Amino acid sequence: MWRASILTIHPELFPGPLDASVLGRARGEGIWEFDTINLRDFSDNRYGSIDDTPAGGGAGLVMRADILAAAVDSVDRNDRPLIYLSPRGRPLNQALARDLAKGPGLIALCGRFEGVDERLIDARGAIEVSIGDFVLAGGEVAAMAMIEACVRLIPGVLGSPLSLGEESFSADEGGFRGRDSEEILLEYPQYTRPRIFEGREIPPVLLSGDHKKIAEWRRAKAEEITRARRPDLIASGPIRRDNKDKDQGR
Ligand code: SAH
Repeated sequence: MWRASILTIHPELFPGPLDASVLGRARGEGIWEFDTINLRDFSDNRYGSIDDTPAGGGAGLVMRADILAAAVDSVDRNDRPLIYLSPRGRPLNQALARDLAKGPGLIALCGRFEGVDERLIDARGAIEVSIGDFVLAGGEVAAMAMIEACVRLIPGVLGSPLSLGEESFSADEGGFRGRDSEEILLEYPQYTRPRIFEGREIPPVLLSGDHKKIAEWRRAKAEEITRARRPDLIASGPIRRDNKDKDQGR
Protein backbone atom coordinates (compact mmCIF):
# COMPACT_ATOMS: atom_id res chain seq x y z
CA MET A 1 0.00 0.00 0.00
CA TRP A 2 1.27 3.46 -0.93
CA ARG A 3 1.88 5.41 2.26
CA ALA A 4 2.59 9.03 3.10
CA SER A 5 3.99 9.93 6.51
CA ILE A 6 3.74 13.62 7.26
CA LEU A 7 5.99 15.32 9.79
CA THR A 8 4.38 18.56 10.95
CA ILE A 9 3.64 20.78 13.93
CA HIS A 10 0.06 21.05 12.60
CA PRO A 11 -1.29 17.50 12.33
CA GLU A 12 -4.80 18.92 12.80
CA LEU A 13 -4.65 20.26 9.22
CA PHE A 14 -4.77 16.66 7.91
CA PRO A 15 -6.42 14.88 6.19
CA GLY A 16 -8.23 17.98 4.92
CA PRO A 17 -8.63 17.60 1.15
CA LEU A 18 -6.83 14.25 1.22
CA ASP A 19 -9.95 12.58 2.60
CA ALA A 20 -12.43 14.08 0.13
CA SER A 21 -13.86 12.56 -3.01
CA VAL A 22 -11.81 9.96 -4.91
CA LEU A 23 -8.81 10.17 -2.58
CA GLY A 24 -10.95 9.55 0.47
CA ARG A 25 -12.67 6.63 -1.22
CA ALA A 26 -9.35 5.12 -2.29
CA ARG A 27 -8.07 5.45 1.24
CA GLY A 28 -11.17 3.66 2.50
CA GLU A 29 -10.44 0.90 0.01
CA GLY A 30 -6.91 0.50 1.33
CA ILE A 31 -5.18 1.73 -1.84
CA TRP A 32 -3.19 4.31 0.07
CA GLU A 33 -2.80 5.54 3.63
CA PHE A 34 -1.20 8.38 5.49
CA ASP A 35 -0.17 9.13 9.03
CA THR A 36 0.97 12.31 10.73
CA ILE A 37 3.82 12.66 13.17
CA ASN A 38 3.66 15.68 15.47
CA LEU A 39 7.13 17.21 15.56
CA ARG A 40 6.39 18.71 18.96
CA ASP A 41 6.29 15.21 20.43
CA PHE A 42 10.07 15.16 19.89
CA SER A 43 10.74 18.42 21.69
CA ASP A 44 13.27 18.22 24.52
CA ASN A 45 11.54 20.73 26.73
CA ARG A 46 8.22 21.09 28.47
CA TYR A 47 7.15 23.95 26.24
CA GLY A 48 7.19 21.70 23.21
CA SER A 49 9.41 24.08 21.30
CA ILE A 50 11.33 22.68 18.39
CA ASP A 51 12.96 25.81 17.02
CA ASP A 52 15.60 28.31 17.97
CA THR A 53 17.08 31.60 16.80
CA PRO A 54 19.15 31.53 13.59
CA ALA A 55 22.91 31.21 13.95
CA GLY A 56 24.44 34.41 12.63
CA GLY A 57 21.44 36.44 13.68
CA GLY A 58 18.45 37.69 11.78
CA ALA A 59 14.71 37.44 12.08
CA GLY A 60 12.61 34.41 12.79
CA LEU A 61 13.22 30.92 14.08
CA VAL A 62 14.79 27.82 12.61
CA MET A 63 13.58 24.27 13.23
CA ARG A 64 16.26 22.29 15.07
CA ALA A 65 18.16 19.52 13.29
CA ASP A 66 18.40 17.25 16.35
CA ILE A 67 14.68 17.34 17.04
CA LEU A 68 13.71 16.88 13.40
CA ALA A 69 16.18 13.99 13.09
CA ALA A 70 14.59 12.24 16.07
CA ALA A 71 11.18 12.63 14.42
CA VAL A 72 12.44 11.40 11.04
CA ASP A 73 14.17 8.42 12.68
CA SER A 74 10.96 7.43 14.43
CA VAL A 75 9.35 6.73 11.06
CA ASP A 76 9.74 3.37 9.35
CA ARG A 77 11.33 4.60 6.15
CA ASN A 78 10.63 1.55 4.05
CA ASP A 79 12.58 2.81 1.04
CA ARG A 80 10.45 5.92 0.91
CA PRO A 81 12.10 9.21 -0.05
CA LEU A 82 12.25 11.92 2.61
CA ILE A 83 10.92 15.09 1.02
CA TYR A 84 11.37 18.50 2.59
CA LEU A 85 8.79 20.86 1.13
CA SER A 86 10.75 24.01 0.41
CA PRO A 87 10.60 26.99 -1.94
CA ARG A 88 14.23 26.17 -2.84
CA GLY A 89 13.32 22.69 -4.00
CA ARG A 90 13.03 21.11 -7.39
CA PRO A 91 9.69 22.12 -8.85
CA LEU A 92 6.89 19.62 -8.40
CA ASN A 93 5.62 18.54 -11.81
CA GLN A 94 3.66 15.68 -13.30
CA ALA A 95 6.80 13.63 -14.04
CA LEU A 96 7.90 13.81 -10.40
CA ALA A 97 4.40 12.99 -9.18
CA ARG A 98 4.36 9.97 -11.48
CA ASP A 99 7.72 8.75 -10.18
CA LEU A 100 6.61 9.14 -6.58
CA ALA A 101 3.27 7.46 -7.26
CA LYS A 102 5.09 4.41 -8.64
CA GLY A 103 7.16 4.01 -5.48
CA PRO A 104 6.20 2.84 -2.00
CA GLY A 105 5.11 6.32 -0.87
CA LEU A 106 6.92 9.24 0.73
CA ILE A 107 7.78 10.98 3.94
CA ALA A 108 6.94 14.68 3.88
CA LEU A 109 8.66 17.13 6.20
CA CYS A 110 6.64 20.32 6.54
CA GLY A 111 8.67 23.37 7.52
CA ARG A 112 7.41 26.36 9.45
CA PHE A 113 9.00 29.65 10.53
CA GLU A 114 12.21 30.29 8.57
CA GLY A 115 12.59 26.65 7.66
CA VAL A 116 14.87 23.87 8.91
CA ASP A 117 18.52 23.64 9.95
CA GLU A 118 20.49 22.80 6.78
CA ARG A 119 22.30 19.93 8.52
CA LEU A 120 19.06 17.97 8.84
CA ILE A 121 18.65 18.06 5.06
CA ASP A 122 22.21 16.80 4.54
CA ALA A 123 22.31 14.27 7.35
CA ARG A 124 19.02 12.57 6.39
CA GLY A 125 19.35 12.94 2.62
CA ALA A 126 16.17 14.95 2.24
CA ILE A 127 15.06 15.89 -1.27
CA GLU A 128 13.73 19.43 -1.45
CA VAL A 129 10.55 19.90 -3.47
CA SER A 130 8.79 23.19 -4.20
CA ILE A 131 5.21 23.60 -5.35
CA GLY A 132 5.92 26.93 -7.02
CA ASP A 133 7.79 30.19 -7.00
CA PHE A 134 6.05 31.72 -4.03
CA VAL A 135 6.48 31.45 -0.29
CA LEU A 136 3.90 29.78 1.93
CA ALA A 137 3.75 30.09 5.70
CA GLY A 138 4.31 26.35 6.08
CA GLY A 139 4.88 23.14 4.18
CA GLU A 140 1.52 21.52 5.01
CA VAL A 141 -0.46 22.83 2.03
CA ALA A 142 2.50 22.01 -0.21
CA ALA A 143 2.60 18.45 1.17
CA MET A 144 -1.13 18.06 0.51
CA ALA A 145 -0.71 19.27 -3.07
CA MET A 146 2.17 16.87 -3.66
CA ILE A 147 0.41 13.88 -2.07
CA GLU A 148 -2.82 14.61 -3.94
CA ALA A 149 -0.95 14.80 -7.25
CA CYS A 150 0.66 11.42 -6.51
CA VAL A 151 -2.32 9.54 -5.12
CA ARG A 152 -4.64 10.24 -8.04
CA LEU A 153 -2.07 8.52 -10.28
CA ILE A 154 -2.12 5.28 -8.31
CA PRO A 155 -4.02 2.65 -10.31
CA GLY A 156 -7.58 2.28 -9.08
CA VAL A 157 -7.89 5.74 -7.54
CA LEU A 158 -9.60 7.48 -10.45
CA GLY A 159 -12.61 5.79 -11.96
CA SER A 160 -11.60 5.85 -15.61
CA PRO A 161 -8.00 5.53 -16.81
CA LEU A 162 -9.07 7.80 -19.70
CA SER A 163 -9.55 10.77 -17.41
CA LEU A 164 -5.90 10.42 -16.45
CA GLY A 165 -4.65 10.33 -20.01
CA GLU A 166 -6.38 13.23 -21.66
CA GLU A 167 -5.36 16.12 -19.53
CA SER A 168 -2.75 18.77 -19.16
CA PHE A 169 0.82 17.62 -18.53
CA SER A 170 0.18 13.94 -19.17
CA ALA A 171 1.67 13.71 -22.62
CA ASP A 172 4.30 11.11 -21.95
CA GLU A 173 2.21 8.29 -20.59
CA GLY A 174 -0.55 7.33 -22.94
CA GLY A 175 -1.86 10.79 -22.38
CA PHE A 176 -3.05 13.56 -24.60
CA ARG A 177 -0.43 14.06 -27.25
CA GLY A 178 0.18 16.83 -29.65
CA ARG A 179 0.90 16.13 -33.30
CA ASP A 180 4.42 15.46 -32.18
CA SER A 181 4.10 12.79 -29.56
CA GLU A 182 6.88 14.38 -27.49
CA GLU A 183 4.91 17.58 -26.96
CA ILE A 184 3.24 18.35 -23.69
CA LEU A 185 0.05 20.32 -24.12
CA LEU A 186 -2.35 22.03 -21.77
CA GLU A 187 -5.87 20.71 -21.87
CA TYR A 188 -8.47 21.82 -24.43
CA PRO A 189 -11.62 23.64 -23.22
CA GLN A 190 -14.38 21.49 -21.73
CA TYR A 191 -18.15 22.03 -21.97
CA THR A 192 -21.30 20.38 -20.68
CA ARG A 193 -25.01 21.12 -20.62
CA PRO A 194 -26.82 23.46 -21.09
CA ARG A 195 -26.09 23.85 -24.78
CA ILE A 196 -26.53 27.63 -24.54
CA PHE A 197 -25.34 29.48 -21.43
CA GLU A 198 -26.02 33.23 -21.34
CA GLY A 199 -26.01 33.31 -25.12
CA ARG A 200 -22.75 31.32 -25.40
CA GLU A 201 -23.01 28.10 -27.36
CA ILE A 202 -21.02 24.92 -27.03
CA PRO A 203 -18.74 24.80 -30.11
CA PRO A 204 -20.88 22.94 -32.68
CA VAL A 205 -18.11 20.48 -33.60
CA LEU A 206 -18.38 18.95 -30.12
CA LEU A 207 -22.05 18.13 -30.78
CA SER A 208 -21.40 16.78 -34.28
CA GLY A 209 -20.72 13.21 -33.23
CA ASP A 210 -17.73 13.19 -35.60
CA HIS A 211 -15.03 11.78 -33.33
CA LYS A 212 -12.19 12.44 -35.73
CA LYS A 213 -13.18 16.09 -36.11
CA ILE A 214 -13.61 16.42 -32.35
CA ALA A 215 -10.15 15.00 -31.71
CA GLU A 216 -8.66 17.40 -34.28
CA TRP A 217 -10.46 20.38 -32.78
CA ARG A 218 -9.32 19.47 -29.29
CA ARG A 219 -5.72 19.05 -30.38
CA ALA A 220 -5.77 22.40 -32.20
CA LYS A 221 -7.26 24.14 -29.16
CA ALA A 222 -4.77 22.51 -26.82
CA GLU A 223 -1.93 23.72 -29.02
CA GLU A 224 -3.36 27.23 -29.25
CA ILE A 225 -3.79 27.49 -25.49
CA THR A 226 -0.36 26.06 -24.76
CA ARG A 227 1.30 28.42 -27.24
CA ALA A 228 -0.49 31.41 -25.74
CA ARG A 229 -0.07 30.57 -22.07
CA ARG A 230 2.92 28.30 -21.69
CA PRO A 231 5.21 28.59 -24.70
CA ASP A 232 7.94 27.16 -22.47
CA LEU A 233 6.21 23.76 -22.64
CA ILE A 234 6.34 23.78 -26.42
CA ALA A 235 9.83 25.27 -26.59
CA SER A 236 11.22 21.94 -25.40
CA GLY A 237 9.47 20.19 -28.30
CA PRO A 238 11.61 20.96 -31.38
CA ILE A 239 14.86 19.67 -29.85
CA ARG A 240 13.34 16.30 -29.12
CA ARG A 241 11.57 16.31 -32.48
CA ASP A 242 14.87 16.85 -34.31
CA ASN A 243 16.43 13.92 -32.49
CA LYS A 244 13.57 11.69 -33.38
CA ASP A 245 13.71 12.66 -37.07
CA LYS A 246 17.41 11.85 -37.07
CA ASP A 247 16.72 8.43 -35.59
CA GLN A 248 14.07 7.72 -38.18
CA GLY A 249 16.43 8.77 -41.00
CA ARG A 250 18.93 6.08 -40.12
N1 SAH B 1 12.76 31.23 4.83
C1 SAH B 1 12.35 30.32 3.81
C2 SAH B 1 10.84 30.24 3.71
C3 SAH B 1 10.20 29.60 4.86
S1 SAH B 1 8.49 29.43 4.61
C4 SAH B 1 12.92 30.75 2.48
O1 SAH B 1 13.02 31.94 2.24
O2 SAH B 1 13.20 29.88 1.65
C5 SAH B 1 8.10 28.19 5.79
C6 SAH B 1 7.94 26.79 5.27
O3 SAH B 1 6.93 26.75 4.31
C7 SAH B 1 9.16 26.22 4.58
O4 SAH B 1 10.05 25.65 5.49
C8 SAH B 1 8.55 25.18 3.66
O5 SAH B 1 8.38 23.94 4.32
C9 SAH B 1 7.17 25.75 3.35
N2 SAH B 1 7.09 26.37 2.01
C10 SAH B 1 7.01 27.68 1.74
N3 SAH B 1 6.92 27.91 0.43
C11 SAH B 1 6.93 26.71 -0.18
C12 SAH B 1 6.87 26.28 -1.54
N4 SAH B 1 6.78 27.15 -2.55
N5 SAH B 1 6.91 24.96 -1.79
C13 SAH B 1 7.01 24.06 -0.79
N6 SAH B 1 7.06 24.41 0.52
C14 SAH B 1 7.03 25.71 0.84
